Amino acid sequence: MNKFEQLGLNESLLLAIKDLGFENPSEVQEKAIPVLLEQNTDLVALAQTGTGKTAAFGFPLIQKIDVEDRSTQALILSPTRELCLQITNEIKLYSKYIKGLNTVAIYGGASITEQAREIKRGAQVIVATPGRMQDMINRGLVNIKNINICVLDEADEMLNMGFYEDIVSILSDTPEDKNTWLFSATMPAEVARIAKKFMKEPAEVTVGHKNSGSKTVSHEFYLVNARDRYEALKRLADSNPDIFSVVFCRTKRDTQSVAEKLIEDGYNAAALHGDLSQAQRDGVMKSFRGRQIQMLVATDVAARGIDVDDITHVVNYQLPDEIETYNHRSGRTGRAGKTGTSIVIITKSELRKISAIERIIQQKFEEKTIPSGIEICEI
Ligand code: ADP
Ligand code: MG
Repeated sequence: MNKFEQLGLNESLLLAIKDLGFENPSEVQEKAIPVLLEQNTDLVALAQTGTGKTAAFGFPLIQKIDVEDRSTQALILSPTRELCLQITNEIKLYSKYIKGLNTVAIYGGASITEQAREIKRGAQVIVATPGRMQDMINRGLVNIKNINICVLDEADEMLNMGFYEDIVSILSDTPEDKNTWLFSATMPAEVARIAKKFMKEPAEVTVGHKNSGSKTVSHEFYLVNARDRYEALKRLADSNPDIFSVVFCRTKRDTQSVAEKLIEDGYNAAALHGDLSQAQRDGVMKSFRGRQIQMLVATDVAARGIDVDDITHVVNYQLPDEIETYNHRSGRTGRAGKTGTSIVIITKSELRKISAIERIIQQKFEEKTIPSGIEICEI
């Protein structure tokens, strides 16, 4: 009997887990799954990015669905459309041996009538962004009176993005006796407020130190003159020919212009930001997952929650305005026990931010120098 079997999961889930190649549950899965399966309870789970939270709520949620009943029984709220699609995809993989279990993704930027039609066909599980979900409820396009599980995934991110009102309104509309499962990497005041408002004696699961970054990520900074930022980025790429990375910029405009320059200079790069259409964003993500793109230049909002395996480097082309955001950026690499490097390209005037970040991630940065042309030729 492997450890997954001991958690109380049923045969169809165990088969799917086997197909996924998961050998043992991660810590958050081991702690949360038995509690959620055995009790009808609220839950607050704190675990950093890449610890396997999707399966931690996904497995018990699936096991609790009554497939004979076509009505919507579970709602998963998540911050972005990319993340909605990703979670939907995962839930479909987990439930592939369960006939009649339908999962639908609901997010902005796509046809609301088409999404409403999909729900009408019978969706026991809805994965939604708060904004679009609220819209659907307002228009009476979704029946939420049979919902008995609400998951708030990446709750800190959702609140960072200004979804507080939507979340409060959605949770107030769903049945009083449902269970709410809140997953978050950090516990800022707004998350605590939601928990207090909507949860009754929640079970608690904490994995690792609350605010610490993943130890599989090493952190480096390169001190440059402001005008050399772009050159430094190119040299980093040249000295890591197998780089597979997300490059973070602060604004949509910088994101677009850095990506354009990289493409002009012959790199496999693309931009991901909120001014792109849904179809364009999906196309970019598909090429990135398929490794046709080596450097995805992105804004924080666009890159939120993206789970692409084997990202080797996260590059902070510019540091984020909010230092907390650094954690979310660097969490894109070093996932599922793999190692990764988070790089900051920094100018002298910003240098003091490094020690502030070190305090948050509880790890030290290593200062590196940009390799010279000759050094790159020798690689
Ligand atoms: P989080 O939501 O905590 O950021 P995810 O649920 O996205 O993390 O999982 C991160 C990665 O780890 C995914 O690629 C997922 O397939 C993988 N993963 C999750 N659970 C396991 C497990 N038990 N064994 C191996 N890999 C796992
Ligand atoms: Mg997640």
